[in-house]
Amino acid sequence: MKTDLEQLLELQQVTAELRRQRERVAAYSRRLQEIELASKRMRAENAEREAKLGALKKEWLEGELELKTLEEKLSGLRKRSAVVRTPKECEALEHEIATLEEKRSKLEERLLVLMEEAERLEKAEEQKKKEERDFTAELVAERERLIEAHKQSSELIKVLTADEARMLQALGDPIAQIYSRLVTKAELPVVARVEKSTCSGCGTQLPIHLVQSLKTSGEVELCPHCHRLVYVDTRAHSASDD
Ligand SMILES: [Zn+2]
Repeated sequence: MKTDLEQLLELQQVTAELRRQRERVAAYSRRLQEIELASKRMRAENAEREAKLGALKKEWLEGELELKTLEEKLSGLRKRSAVVRTPKECEALEHEIATLEEKRSKLEERLLVLMEEAERLEKAEEQKKKEERDFTAELVAERERLIEAHKQSSELIKVLTADEARMLQALGDPIAQIYSRLVTKAELPVVARVEKSTCSGCGTQLPIHLVQSLKTSGEVELCPHCHRLVYVDTRAHSASDD
């Protein structure tokens, strides 16, 4: 039969492991959320770039059409200029042709700019897509690892929670109640070793009679200051507790 102290120390190890696993699960969840956000951001950036490129191409196509219309108009005007009779008509036509030619020249310049811009974007897009493929592969692998680790920790938590409950029950009240209350309020260890007559939980010097009683009984008492369960490690007390 184990003493209360032995049971408490085992219980405390289980509680500590349970906390570690819960922290891990929380960290895994946070990282998974970050990955989710990063993927979402990447998809949004992709869509934005594609929209930009699409708008550019649309403008370019429309420009090409407009250029074709202009060319046709110019060709029509030139044909007419061959058959005009009066100088006035001739002047009017030449003026119209000059206006259209200027318009065409500006349009051609704009189309050149658009084409260069589209080429630049497409090249950048290729590079970006490659980077994204690598990044996505990394994220997918990390995500899988995290999900697996999350699953393992969650299963461990189930086992540890059951262990903790079983050990508390074995311990019985009132000590199980004291322990349960302490772990919700104080930092571990809540079953604190007395070191050099001091509570290792809060650092308070304990009364001599308390230390003496702990040494003799080998059991636990409450620290008068922090109310943790204190004990003297009788196996090692001659070296560290005097
Ligand atoms: Zn204390």
